[in-house]
Amino acid sequence: MSHLFYQGRGRKPVLEQARGVYIWDKDGRRYLDGSSGAMVCNIGHSNPNVLAAMQRQMEKATFGYRLHFETEASETLAARLSALMPEGLSKVFFVSGGSEAVESAMKLARQHALATGQPERWKIFSRAPSYHGCTLGALAVTSYTPLTKPFEPMMQAMPKVPAPRAYLDGLDPADPETGRHYADMLDAAIEAEGPETVAAFIVEPVGGASTGALVPPAGYMERVREICTRHGVLLILDEVMTGAGRTGRFLGCEHWGTRPDIVVMSKGLGAGYAPLGAMIVDEKLVDPVLDAGGFAHGFTYAGNPLACAAGLGVLDELARQDLCTNAQTMGEALMARLHGLMQKHELIGDVRGKGLLTAFELMADRVTKAPLPAHLNAHQRLVDLAYERGLIVYSRRTRDGTEGDHILVCPPLILEPAHLDEIVEGLDASLTALAEDLAPALRG
Ligand code: PMP
Repeated sequence: MSHLFYQGRGRKPVLEQARGVYIWDKDGRRYLDGSSGAMVCNIGHSNPNVLAAMQRQMEKATFGYRLHFETEASETLAARLSALMPEGLSKVFFVSGGSEAVESAMKLARQHALATGQPERWKIFSRAPSYHGCTLGALAVTSYTPLTKPFEPMMQAMPKVPAPRAYLDGLDPADPETGRHYADMLDAAIEAEGPETVAAFIVEPVGGASTGALVPPAGYMERVREICTRHGVLLILDEVMTGAGRTGRFLGCEHWGTRPDIVVMSKGLGAGYAPLGAMIVDEKLVDPVLDAGGFAHGFTYAGNPLACAAGLGVLDELARQDLCTNAQTMGEALMARLHGLMQKHELIGDVRGKGLLTAFELMADRVTKAPLPAHLNAHQRLVDLAYERGLIVYSRRTRDGTEGDHILVCPPLILEPAHLDEIVEGLDASLTALAEDLAPALRG
């Protein structure tokens, strides 16, 4: 009997060890980590240089309370991160995870409004669907029915605009008119809500768990920036999944040259070595808040030196191995192979992604975009079939979380061509098995 519980009752194999892109369980079975856990382990497992950096820090101190001491590790990591940000984003606030980072950004946007004499600004716009975390604040800007619905009475409703899912709406993602079309929905919604009541818009540069590697259409990010600026609305980029090289650049927003007001990061920053997240803020926003009495927010483990030492080790490895470039080149190769799988497997209705944040969507009909019947639970069946073949991929429902199936394929950025072959072979065999498995239900 296990004393643990998470989402369900299913027991999982016991993890014994993890190295590079592989994980072994207690029975000696090997798995290729094709999702980097939950898009976390960007530099691979058990990197010896990161372990050594953590060991050195451990021998000095594992904890220093942020209101009593600064630490070299947190100071250095803050400086290193700010050097990797767009110009002016130079103030760093550490947390232990993505939801904490999002909560922090929401609260900073609110406190900035108060500090600058705009007390009526408190609403945070976001997109539907989206995922920004599971604490009640982050959940209020999340749009994903199974996770949000039970808690609606406990949350402050926040306004949402449609995510730019051009592939579902039959629009050309390469046409700048498409980007303008979706961004203008934000403009209209802010106007309808009253711009003077809106503090911020939070967006994932490339959609993650809820939309499955949704790449914005041409012109979208540029127009979003312009709309936010025009309305005095802060642009918060949720780079929890896209940050730390995942999309082939250090930040996802670099693909479009978007300059955010606030960036939040986590997953790939600690890369599975330590719970670590960060909010990186335009220096112009921070001073008024500090002048008005300080930021009324903070977590006990903020700036934990061991976590920051891990983060520094991760940044060193990203640079030393030039992993952003590898994510870009291997990402292109992976996308080409996923398109190849789409030609062979009718169940695949769409392939999308940027760098090594890639996904495909299963559909009953790729022309009409009709999803598979939800009760078939096709995404979970595919994950299970891949698991049986020693391949880990990550799946979710798409389209508001009640139907539609996407599979995220997001291996560590240290991926080599032989690993790519192994992933594609595993997916190919699993898709064949899934088609056989679903055939009776789809025929009937
Ligand atoms: N934002 C995004 C874009 C995410 O993908 C996630 C995690 N999937 C979060 C926030 C929340 O992060 P955490 O689970 O570390 O709280």
